[in-house]
Amino acid sequence: MLDSLQDGLRSAFKTLRGQGRLTESNMREGLKMVENALLEADVSYSVVKDFMDGVAEKAVGQDVLKSLRPEQQLVGIVQEELIKILGGDIDTSLHLKPDVTVLMMCGLQGAGKTTTCGKLARLIGTEGKKALLVAADLQRPAAVEQLHIVGNSVGAPVYSEEGATDPIAVCRNAVKHARDNEIDVVILDTAGRLAIDEELMEQLKTIDRQLDPDQAFLVVDGMTGQDAVNSAKAFNDALELNGVIMTKLDGDARGGALLSVKQVTGVPIKFIGVSEHMDGLEPFHPDRMASRILG
Ligand code: GDP
Repeated sequence: MLDSLQDGLRSAFKTLRGQGRLTESNMREGLKMVENALLEADVSYSVVKDFMDGVAEKAVGQDVLKSLRPEQQLVGIVQEELIKILGGDIDTSLHLKPDVTVLMMCGLQGAGKTTTCGKLARLIGTEGKKALLVAADLQRPAAVEQLHIVGNSVGAPVYSEEGATDPIAVCRNAVKHARDNEIDVVILDTAGRLAIDEELMEQLKTIDRQLDPDQAFLVVDGMTGQDAVNSAKAFNDALELNGVIMTKLDGDARGGALLSVKQVTGVPIKFIGVSEHMDGLEPFHPDRMASRILG
């Protein structure tokens, strides 16, 4: 996960360790390497700038240089700033209500939305609650079928209506079905598109307004770098997202999306997808991720 970013940061710290005595000038050189590692990972320029300002403010002061292990202290400062840009302390609870909790899932086609719906249903199942998957992507007939396959694989029921054309009615009927059948959580698998368009946004806004979901999550592909950040911005402008779920971090994602999305959009990452299998979803903890990145 994020191998090249890890390598870049490690070599920056290695250079610093090899300097013997740490001075202000070789500290700046080390920080430049940290900056380059972030830029190479495709982190948004504004995020890199904020990050470096935060690190420099703490690191270039005399206290670090005077300390017994300056480079170790620098690693600590970088770690602190990483945690900060990754979102700090994130509440990943789904805040399930005593009656039915409605989760709305959206995202561009191929981001991993349907897979993530299944993973969430599985996770909810492990907590002793029952989730219903709702086929509200009526754009592609294959999407409904795919959701049934996913539901089967995690033992979650799927609500779909044969020949339906109105996704809002399907969502509304599904919530009623959940109330009547003692289901705890309804997961709406909304329509994906290849690109953000007006029609998609209008449909999502209508579902959001009429169903008033408890949480709206955007699924983005962590391998798509700044495109993921831009789609998070666009979806959040339309919907006020509760969180981002970033998928495919097990692949060769460079880390740019992961490190930029909270800072650029204000929306925290709440879960990450770490495999294509149904158990490959983890609540997102910035402190653990920062430790993972810094090895
Ligand atoms: P949707 O169009 O957004 O509903 O996307 P799908 O759920 O169909 O996923 C698209 C592809 O991404 C599928 O091949 C999934 O197996 C794969 N995928 C989804 N999440 C992950 C993940 O976290 N890791 C990996 N490696 N693959 C994933």
